[in-house]
Amino acid sequence: MTMNIRVAHLYGDLMNTYGDIGNILTLRFYAKQIGVEVTDTIVSLEDDFKADDFDFAVFGGGQDFEQMVVAKDLPNKKDEIIKFIEQNKPLIAVCGGYQMLGKYYVDASGRKLPGISAMNHYTEQQHEHRFIGNIEIQNEATGQKYHGFENHQGITFLGDDEHALGKVLKGYGNNGEDHTEGAVHKNTIGTYFHGPIMARNGNFSKQMMFEALENKYPDYDFTDLKAKVKPESY
Ligand code: GLN
Repeated sequence: MTMNIRVAHLYGDLMNTYGDIGNILTLRFYAKQIGVEVTDTIVSLEDDFKADDFDFAVFGGGQDFEQMVVAKDLPNKKDEIIKFIEQNKPLIAVCGGYQMLGKYYVDASGRKLPGISAMNHYTEQQHEHRFIGNIEIQNEATGQKYHGFENHQGITFLGDDEHALGKVLKGYGNNGEDHTEGAVHKNTIGTYFHGPIMARNGNFSKQMMFEALENKYPDYDFTDLKAKVKPESY
């Protein structure tokens, strides 16, 4: 049996800041080590998104203009994105994508764009300021350190049912105040990490890939395949 992971690249033609598509290339890189096929499809404006057609999703970052365009289309996909998340399928949402999964995003001009409330964080405006630079966090559950690059004006505050992806060791993270970075809900990860996050953090990539596989093939014992994957970090 050849296993496969079907990736939805949500708005991949509009939301792809700093090569967030590299998350999919990285998934392909690790999947190849264990003979798992990866297919990816851009699901963009006016496309139908069906949760059952995909096993993994990436929603990258974007400029405010693209985010405004995407915000108008998102209500059409909202129910299926929430279904996808609630089915425990992995979704990596970066920066603008992360903001749009939450309740709302206030852009640099003060315009409030509604999110889809798939997660309960919300994003306010910084006044004529951006958080830019390298960032390092520590995942409190695993102790692993993740490295990335952030560039965002929005400041995000977590909802009650979310916990952070990590504690900020260097850089700003969600809001520059509470030392949190990113948000985790089921197997959905929101984060400000470009880099892309999966390319720079092999342990994280390995974990996300096996979450997709275990979710899709619940009767398969992945112990041997897990031992074969050697995560790389940069
Ligand atoms: N436009 C958003 C902001 O400035 C997201 C930026 C990004 O995705 N890098 O906060």
